[in-house]
Amino acid sequence: MDIYRPASWSEALEVKRGAPESVPLAGGTDLMVDLNFGRARPQALLDLTRLAELAGWDRDNGRVRIGAGVTFTTLIAELAPELPGLAIASRTVGSPQIRNRATLGGNLGTASPAGDALPPLLAAGAEVEVASAARSRRIPLEDFFIAPKVTALEGGELIAAIVVPVADGPQQYSKIGTRNAMVIATVSFALALHPGRRRVGTGIGSAAPRPLRATEAEDFIGGVLAEHDLWSSGAPIPEPASARFGELVAAAAQPIDDVRGTVAYRRHALAVLARRTLAWAWSDYRSAA
Ligand SMILES: Cc1cc2nc3c(=O)[nH]c(=O)nc-3n(C[C@H](O)[C@H](O)[C@H](O)COP(=O)(O)OP(=O)(O)OC[C@H]3O[C@@H](n4cnc5c(N)ncnc54)[C@H](O)[C@@H]3O)c2cc1C
Repeated sequence: MDIYRPASWSEALEVKRGAPESVPLAGGTDLMVDLNFGRARPQALLDLTRLAELAGWDRDNGRVRIGAGVTFTTLIAELAPELPGLAIASRTVGSPQIRNRATLGGNLGTASPAGDALPPLLAAGAEVEVASAARSRRIPLEDFFIAPKVTALEGGELIAAIVVPVADGPQQYSKIGTRNAMVIATVSFALALHPGRRRVGTGIGSAAPRPLRATEAEDFIGGVLAEHDLWSSGAPIPEPASARFGELVAAAAQPIDDVRGTVAYRRHALAVLARRTLAWAWSDYRSAA
C-alpha cells in the first residue's frame, strides 16, 4: 500500500489529482477500524494529519469556517458559544480519546446516517467546502449525502472545511442509544431556532439512509410561531402544535428495523425527541428574551 504524506494542502490536492484512488486519512477512528477488520484495503492512503490548513477555524461575516481536520475536542472547547448545537452533539461522540482524534471532516467523509455532527449542522444550514487541484466549490450539507458511505465528492476532491452560520438563537441536540457513552445513535435529532429569519431548522440522524431535514415540520412550526406572533410575545407553544411537530418529524424519517431499533420505535422516539428539543430551545429563547 502506498502512503502519501503531503506537507501542505496544495500538495495534498496535487497528490489526489495524480492518485485519485488514494483514500484520505484524518483521525483514523473510522478508517483504521475498517482496515483492522479487513473491511477496507485501499491501494493508497493520503495522510492529511500534518496539514495545518485543515486544523483551525475562523469566523467571518456571521459564519464559522471549520477546517476539516478540527477535532471534536476543539469544537467543544472553542466553538460552543458560536455553534451550541454542534458542541452538544460533539460531547456525545465516543470517549475523550476518540474526541481527541476524530475530526469533523472525517464524520462527513464517513457519511454514516448516525454521524453525530450531521443533524446539528443540517439544522444550522451548513455548507461543505470541497476542493480539487482545479477548483473549489460549496455544497449545501443536505445535498452532500447521497447514501450510506456515499457523498457528493467527485474524483480528485477533498473536504476542505465546513461553513456554518453562527447561531442566532438557541440550538439543541438529543440522541438515544443503549447507554450514554460510546454508542452509535439509535436515533438522534437536532433543532435550531432562527429568530432573525423567523425559521426553525431540523436535522434527523439514524432514521434514514442519510441524515436529513424534516422540512414539512420546519414549515409547520414556523407557521405556528408566526401566526400567533410567538417570536415577539415569547408565549408558550400550544401543546397540540408541539405534538403535531413531533408527528411531522417522525413522518419525515425513513427508518429501518435493525439491531439498534425497530421502525416503530425509531418513529416514536423521534417524535419524543422533536417535542423535547423544541421545548428546551423555546424555554431558552423565552428566558433570553
Ligand atoms: C470507539 C469509537 C466510538 C465512536 N463513537 C462515535 C460517536 O459517538 N458518534 C459519531 O458520530 N462517530 C463515532 N465514531 C466514529 C468516528 O469517530 C467519527 O465518524 C469521526 O468523526 C471520524 O473522523 P476521523 O477523523 O477519525 O476520520 P477517518 O477515520 O480518518 O476518516 C473517515 C472517512 O472520512 C474520509 N475523510 C477524512 N477526512 C477527509 C477529507 N478532508 N476529505 C475527504 N474525505 C475525508 C476518510 O477517507 C474516511 O472515508 C466512533 C468511532 C470509534 C472507533
